[in-house]
Amino acid sequence: MFSKTVRQELCSIVGEDWFLDTPEDLATYSYDAFLPEFTPDGVILPAKTEQVSRIMQVATREKIPVTPRGAGTNICGGSVAKQGGLIMAFNRMNEIVEVDAENRCATVQPGVVNADLQKLVAGYGLMYPPDPASMFVSTIGGNVALNAGGPRGVKYGVTRDYVLGLEVVLPSGAVIRTGGKSLKNVSGFDLTRLICGSEGTLGIITEIIVKLVVLPPAKATLQAIFSDLNDAAKTVSAIIGSGIVPTTLELMDKVVLDVIGSYGGATFRKDAEALLLIEVDGDASLLDAQGRRIEEFCRARGAVEVQRASTQAEADKLWQARRSAFGAVASRRPNCIVEDATVPVKRLPEIIRKIVDLSQKYRLKIGVLAHAGDGNLHPLIMTDLRDKDEMERIERALEEMYETAIEMGGTLSGEHGIGIAKKRFLKMEFSDSAMEIMKGIKRVFDPDNILNPGSFLM
Ligand SMILES: Cc1cc2nc3c(=O)[nH]c(=O)nc-3n(C[C@H](O)[C@H](O)[C@H](O)COP(=O)(O)OP(=O)(O)OC[C@H]3O[C@@H](n4cnc5c(N)ncnc54)[C@H](O)[C@@H]3O)c2cc1C
Repeated sequence: MFSKTVRQELCSIVGEDWFLDTPEDLATYSYDAFLPEFTPDGVILPAKTEQVSRIMQVATREKIPVTPRGAGTNICGGSVAKQGGLIMAFNRMNEIVEVDAENRCATVQPGVVNADLQKLVAGYGLMYPPDPASMFVSTIGGNVALNAGGPRGVKYGVTRDYVLGLEVVLPSGAVIRTGGKSLKNVSGFDLTRLICGSEGTLGIITEIIVKLVVLPPAKATLQAIFSDLNDAAKTVSAIIGSGIVPTTLELMDKVVLDVIGSYGGATFRKDAEALLLIEVDGDASLLDAQGRRIEEFCRARGAVEVQRASTQAEADKLWQARRSAFGAVASRRPNCIVEDATVPVKRLPEIIRKIVDLSQKYRLKIGVLAHAGDGNLHPLIMTDLRDKDEMERIERALEEMYETAIEMGGTLSGEHGIGIAKKRFLKMEFSDSAMEIMKGIKRVFDPDNILNPGSFLM
């Protein structure tokens, strides 16, 4: 709860309509796509950078926690008010300020929905490659703050690879600019890359300059079914090792395929133990040969069926299973925990085997869905938070899974971030000295710890 004076001051910055604190409004902003709920004391929706700066000045003076929020689709508890205070939501700062086709970049406000940017730049023959599966709702601000990836990451990389410059409001209210439109920039420390992926803990992102690439003229989409999960996993690293650069290389195991089947998303042959969805893009004249090579590759490694789309409608049909996977799995039990362990791609078969073993050892229903081409797994744990015994078994399974991923040279998170979801595991990946450096950086940006407090560091 804010004092009457502070409430009035916040309202005077954004206007009465854009400060929300009815119980209904607070409940609406009390959750994101992760599990726990935290009720904020107020929600504020600024319309411009200058307002963000003034809000931060009040927050610093009054020591009010501020948690930035895009669409709230993160899966790590990043955009909930873990210590109360203000949620700062960017729904109003959703303008695509400029598409600069000659410099192949665009300038956007943080609340722009990813798919809206994709659609607009396609009209210029350009593409913004980062494509989280949540792209029809998630915002560029949220994507930058979590360094989001997506199915196209195998070929094109992740959000950080496309952020050229940022405008950021610090907790003090100071506005800084990092980077710019130039493609090369080695001046000073790379603050742009540091803030990318900082999970809303260092500064509030109010403008983003993103790099664009030429829209590939054509793509080929293939689906390969395997009757052995291990064969499918080995095929992934074989494709990557062969020099073929797929745009997308997704894997789903039998658990996920069965759930999709019963959900009505698609049907598969009875002996299907795994599915690979593979896409390549580029010059139309080269795609046919690449498609054929991938098909041969899959068959030689045990695929029992390979389909290649010859029209966009057929490609959409092949994508339908992958697109319906999250919804299908989430409908299965009261809760679904989406994990994000990531390993070097060569270790994919081993980590998948480990996950299957863990699901048996701890009697859990885990489906494996993966952006397999870059070793990024999303084990989907179908569960019920109210079942204490099962939650304990999940915790033990997660600990083992992440220890294994890190031993393999992998990481706790390929793209979803740490937040409160994996904070307790962070020490597996970082030494005490590395943790101290990160905490020191946090203190320089945010000495009073008012930005997204309680999140992954402090
Ligand atoms: C069905 C589904 C599919 C998904 N698929 C993918 C996927 O393929 N790849 C992937 O990477 N993720 C995926 N996600 C996770 C999520 O969509 C991404 O992490 C996305 O980037 C979050 O964007 P958002 O706008 O929802 O941000 P939010 O969830 O609102 O916020 C995310 C984080 O960013 C911070 N933040 C938001 N705006 C700002 C700002 N302006 N300044 C500073 N910090 C800010 C918040 O504090 C929070 O820590 C998926 C989620 C769902 C539910």
